[in-house]
Amino acid sequence: MPFHRLSPLFLSVAVAACATATAPTLPARLPPPVAIPNSDPRVRSALEKIRTDDSWLIEQQTSICEVEAPSFKEQRRAADFAARFRALGYANVRIDAEGNVIAERPGDAGEPVVVLSAHLDTVFPEGTDVRVRRSGDTLRGPGIGDNCRGLAVLLGVARSLDHAQVRTTGTIIFVATVGEEGAGNLRGVRHLVDVSLKDRIDYSISVDGAGLSTTSAAVGSNRYRVTYSGPGGHSYGAFGMPNPMHALGRAIALVSEIQVPTEPRTTFSVGVLRGGTSVNSISESASMDVDLRSESPAALAALDSAVMRAVASALGAERARWPRSSVALNVKIDTIGIRPAATQPDTAPIVRAALEAARTLGFSSETGASSTDANLPMSRGIPAITIDGGGIGRGAHSLNESWIATPDAYLGPQWALLITLTLAGVR
Ligand SMILES: [Zn+2]
Repeated sequence: MPFHRLSPLFLSVAVAACATATAPTLPARLPPPVAIPNSDPRVRSALEKIRTDDSWLIEQQTSICEVEAPSFKEQRRAADFAARFRALGYANVRIDAEGNVIAERPGDAGEPVVVLSAHLDTVFPEGTDVRVRRSGDTLRGPGIGDNCRGLAVLLGVARSLDHAQVRTTGTIIFVATVGEEGAGNLRGVRHLVDVSLKDRIDYSISVDGAGLSTTSAAVGSNRYRVTYSGPGGHSYGAFGMPNPMHALGRAIALVSEIQVPTEPRTTFSVGVLRGGTSVNSISESASMDVDLRSESPAALAALDSAVMRAVASALGAERARWPRSSVALNVKIDTIGIRPAATQPDTAPIVRAALEAARTLGFSSETGASSTDANLPMSRGIPAITIDGGGIGRGAHSLNESWIATPDAYLGPQWALLITLTLAGVR
């Protein structure tokens, strides 16, 4: 689920609009408009199919959600999702070595290749009650918006394209990815980009959650578990040796003082502490989990180095505190997850396709930065965005998650369809 932040570009556009009376200058050359193929009769028919068949898509969303899919245990939902694509007439549906479901819809020229994807996994552990309850327009169930909505949008787009017999120049590849959430660490999309569809993807569009926003920049994150360790001992009897818990305290104090830029937004947090034996023991180990994030790869790298310096200098300071002790004090750094940061301008064709397709459908979408499946292709230089799937979502990542089938929820799948066709080209 993307935690969405307005892009500085969007904000500066708003500021610039207020200032136009005194500074009526425009860019000398605007990039040519992206051609949205909304006047093509078949495309119109596909859009209409999505609008009139909204209830079919919501039924898919509901029944997908009732198949469990914790990160690393997506197999059942993957098999179920592959079966849904086969039921739509896709003969060549496959599940790759990492567990991603891949269904290709060949275009007349085969290129460009446009990936339309949604993540399969949820943050909920095995055994969670995943039944969906509906009252009026509100559907309640873990994962109903994030990301059963995105998965259903893929089916809706595929079905409407075939219903309206839309032919495309490029190939559209529908993908349901594994491992987007938390510790999944983007393993699905990483395998997709680096192995299964290596060197084939020209554009990547992910659909994730509810709403109508566009994620055009990737917030990167580095997450580590830092563990200080020593032999430990009695708090009174063994006093005078380096204490792993004290070293950890020094490290947290140093980390908490690190200065980071507000623009590009760069953040750090010590989220979890572990360690200790008893109140009268020098602990054998003490650890912290740290989360570092930034929209900028350079700022993230600088923050990462600062944290590593803090960890090393806390180790040195705690050793130096007990110069006469020969007891060892060590530190180990385990990587919990690395998600690459990346940015692309709002003038990039894929971003303009999203914004202009939205305008064509009668709404305006705003761009922002988030951490999603789009991080990976974007960091590899492949134009990529993540869009919302329509409707209103509440309480993502909680057992109380709900999704509201607003009267215009169909705009989500219509938007996904129109962006995909803009990039793939209609014959
Ligand atoms: Zn999500």
